[in-house]
Formats: sequence, C-alpha cells, structure tokens
Amino acid sequence: MTTPVRFDLTQNDIPEQWLNLAPMFNEPLPPPLHPGTQQPASPEDMGKIFPMNILEQEMSMEPWIKVPEEVREIYALWRPTPLLRAVRLERALKTPAKIYYKYEGVSYAGSHKPNSAVAQAYYNREAGTKRVVTETGAGQWGSALSFACKVFGLECVVYMVSVSYHQKPYRKLLMQTWDATVHASPSRETAFGRALLEERPDHPGSLGIAISEAIEDTVTSKDTKYALGSVLNHVCLHQSVIGQESIKQMALAGVEPDTIIGCIGGGSNFAGIAFPWIHRSLTENKKYRIIAVEPDVCASMTKGELRYDFGDTAETTPLMMMHTLGHKFVPPAIHAGGLRYHGMAPMVSHARKHGWIEAKSYQQSRIFEAAVQFARTEGIIPAPEPSHAIAAVIDEAIDCREKNEPKTILFNLCGHGFLDMASYDAFLTGKLHNDTPGSEG
Ligand SMILES: *Cc1c(COP(=O)(O)O)cnc(C)c1O
Repeated sequence: MTTPVRFDLTQNDIPEQWLNLAPMFNEPLPPPLHPGTQQPASPEDMGKIFPMNILEQEMSMEPWIKVPEEVREIYALWRPTPLLRAVRLERALKTPAKIYYKYEGVSYAGSHKPNSAVAQAYYNREAGTKRVVTETGAGQWGSALSFACKVFGLECVVYMVSVSYHQKPYRKLLMQTWDATVHASPSRETAFGRALLEERPDHPGSLGIAISEAIEDTVTSKDTKYALGSVLNHVCLHQSVIGQESIKQMALAGVEPDTIIGCIGGGSNFAGIAFPWIHRSLTENKKYRIIAVEPDVCASMTKGELRYDFGDTAETTPLMMMHTLGHKFVPPAIHAGGLRYHGMAPMVSHARKHGWIEAKSYQQSRIFEAAVQFARTEGIIPAPEPSHAIAAVIDEAIDCREKNEPKTILFNLCGHGFLDMASYDAFLTGKLHNDTPGSEG
C-alpha cells in the first residue's frame, strides 16, 4: 500500500472557536504600558487606534472565543488547509523521523496572514470603521489585509517597508489589485517619514518605522483604525485555527508529534501552530518539544532581552513586555522580509519564560539550502520565512538519523515563495551572503 501523504478535513472541521492562551499562564501576562505615563494602558488609550471589539479580544481572559459565521464563511474559501507528510524529504534525508507539515500557502494571499486579516476587517466593519491603515514588511500582511478589507467593503492603506517595496514589486501589485493604496516607507505621507527621508533619502525602512507611519496616519485621519498583522494577542488568537486543525489532522494520520517547529517574525504563525498543542500539553498532560526559529541577524528571542519595549521606532505604541533587540534596531535587508522585526509577541515571549518553547536561529544561506532541498523533494516552493522552520526540521531529522530515533516532527509551512523568486535567483547564482555567524539559544 502506498504511504498516506495527505490528511484532509472538511468545511465542517474549520474551528468554531479561537483559542486564547492568556488564561493558561501561571504568571499573568504583563500588561501593555502607556508610552507616556508608563502605567498599564487603558482600553480608552488603545481605542484611538483599535476598535473596542478587537481590544476586548486583546485583553480577553476567555480561553475560547467564537469565530463569527461571516468570518468562518471566508475561511471556508481555503480552509481547512492541507496537512501533508514529507515522505520524499524523509527518504532523501535517510531519516527514521516522520515529517508532517501544515500548509498555509493555499490562502489567497499565499500565507497564514489572512486568518487574522479577515477577522480584523470583520470587526472593524462591525465597529463602523471606514478606512484601515497598516504597515507591511515583505508585503504578506498588506496583501492579506487588502484582500480582507475588500471582502468587507473597507478602504485599505498600506505603508510598505521600502526595501521590500523595491525588492518585491509583485506584492505591491497584489495589494493594488485588491484596491489598496500602497506607500513605500519611510514615505512623504507622514511627518515621521519625511524627517527620516531628510536624514537619509535611501532609507531602507523597517517594520518599526512603517508602524510609526501607519499609526500617525491613523490618529490624524477620520473614521480610520489601525491593524497589526502579528505580535498582538488577538492576532495570535486568530491564528489558532492552524494548530487546532493540525491536531485533528495528526489524529487522522494516527500520530502524535514529538517536535513542533515554526518560524518567528512577530510570532503569529508560530503561535498559530504551537499554542493549541501547548494547550493540549497542559490539559492532557502530554509533552512536546516546541521550537521557534528566527534569522540570526534579527534574533529577538536568541539574542534579544526580555523587557518592556516599544513596538515602533517613533515610540508611539504602548510598551510591551517582550523579547526585543531594541526599537531602534534596523535589521539588515535579508530576503526573509517577514522576519525583520525587532520584537516578539508578548505571548510567545511569555511562553518561552514558562519554558514551554525553545528558540534557535539560522543564517540566510542555510535557509535557502533547506528551501531548495524541500522544493526538490516535496515540490512546494516555500517562502524564505518558513524555510527557517524547514532548516530546523532537516537538522532534527538528521539528528534522528544519527541517534536512530524515529521521532515525529510537525512544522508550519506558513507561505509559498512564488513572489520570492528573486531571492531564489540570488541563491542559485551564488550571490546570497550572510552577515554574521549563527547562534542557538
Ligand atoms: C508575515 C510572515 C511571517 C512572519 O510573521 P509571524 O507573525 O512571525 O508569523 C512568516 N512567514 C510568512 C510567510 C509571513 O507572511
């Protein structure tokens, strides 16, 4: 009999609730602080940029939150996403390990991001918002939100990190096709952007800067709210559909994972795959090794500190307790643009503090070796971001071979790389370089 490689669910299996990890922590999550007073930020403070219904989720201590039917109906366009077994990668590695992956690249924006974008657009429409402003790094979040805003009849404005705007013009075109307005950040649209361009006309930008511009635009415009594609609790919550589905699918496959791996930029796709398994380990007394993987040149978890820091460069966001490289950190222009953020989701940072997860970092050239090996065995061309997870999976599988341990590994393949082919070109033609040595922590 052929080895089963695909474990399909039906539309009825799309989760009816999102999972909130906040009530599961022994030590409560440290609250966000007001940037001026340094006191816990009130919902009224945050209400200038987010609608109240989203803030309720952000601060919720309910373990389960109902997914609105209209959101579930949009999810159903591409969810449940497939869970596959990477049999040919296993064979190529001559490993006794079994490798499974959840594939989020089937969404219309090509990543996990629409899981939260659709929810956020829905709640904004419910709250009477007319215009939603955001930032985007590689363009994944901007494209997801552009699609979601169009679905719910909202105007969408995106500040896109300049280096990505120029390296990845196709993502800008996706956004424009879905009817969004896109500005390269730093831009001339905001006072903050103009000041930065004054100092350095070729400024490459960063997510921190783009967030500052998006917030400035939000607070100076009418009927406008801001949306963030990662980091915050409500985003981690929305992404829990990934892990919840994967639990059902691993059961269909008749296996339990030993190791669960995801890449981390702001932490949301990792939270999406990992938190439902953490919840299961806490409620059903199971044990999983869970690994977050980041680029070594922007390694907030393995090289940053756990402390209160701003989410943006201009110091306008609330202070969050998180692993951070400092809000002034401008990461080098690596191809995994979605992982160029100085901070880490407070929930993911807190899960690390509880010893529930580990972190590891990789160099860019190793990432592309892993990506190409995956493409040549499994066929899917992964985005550079999840290729960090793939590199860690390959190392785990090789370790299993050396120790002759038949472990089961699950990872989140959170996006495809069709719009990242320029970075593959750089790798395949030997033009891709690293900046610093790798590290582990
Ligand atoms: C945005 C993005 C990331 C990084 O964001 P997280 O919040 O850490 O998930 C990773 N992979 C892909 C494909 C992305 O689009």
